[in-house]
Amino acid sequence: MGDSGSGLSPAAELAHELRPAVADDRVLAAMASIPRERFVPDSERRRAYANVALPIACGQTISQPLVVARMLELLELHPTDRALDVGTGSGYHAALLALLAKEVFTIERHEELSAIAERTIRGLGLDNVSFFVGDGWEGLPDRAPFDAINVAAATGAQLPAALERQLGPGGRLVAPVGEASQRLVLTRRTPEGFRHSTLEGVRFVPLVRDEAE
Ligand code: SAH
Repeated sequence: MGDSGSGLSPAAELAHELRPAVADDRVLAAMASIPRERFVPDSERRRAYANVALPIACGQTISQPLVVARMLELLELHPTDRALDVGTGSGYHAALLALLAKEVFTIERHEELSAIAERTIRGLGLDNVSFFVGDGWEGLPDRAPFDAINVAAATGAQLPAALERQLGPGGRLVAPVGEASQRLVLTRRTPEGFRHSTLEGVRFVPLVRDEAE
């Protein structure tokens, strides 16, 4: 990690380490250019480029880089896409989406996390991300349709129907589905309806249902 003498930045080294598991070069280039250390608390900076999830404020986590990269590649993002990111957390995933899509809308239930993420992302000079505080379970109906929806918290057994409805034609949604045991599920909106593929196992914090609290 860090100064290994390779001449690569720590983020570029991380992208290089992920290469065997991630086929999309645009995703790897984005990972190589976002400094993950800015998205973690000072106490975790030493581990910022390790391929692990790390604790952030409000008892939440910044996701594991490999899982972030896989979710980004499954979304098959185009530079013209409008993307919704549910569960802003540190903002790391949103920053990567900002490099790969045209416009990013990110929603978080903790105001404090949203504010920190906004500062971090603006500090990187990215100006195509809009921040919302609220219940991501409902998505952002006023801003729909989206070409891509990223859900960074586990939905329980069922994908939120409101999110699927906010996909435009050909839209893709990736989400960790399940509770104790979770898998990434990719949903694609086709002319014939929603197609679902169940992929690798993952571990995310739960997508909280605010009305149930
Ligand atoms: N994408 C983040 C990781 C997020 S962890 C990153 O790159 O750092 C999941 C986040 O989802 C947490 O911050 C949690 O507070 C948030 N969350 C959980 N339930 C939510 C809900 N119903 N609406 C919005 N955000 C939610």
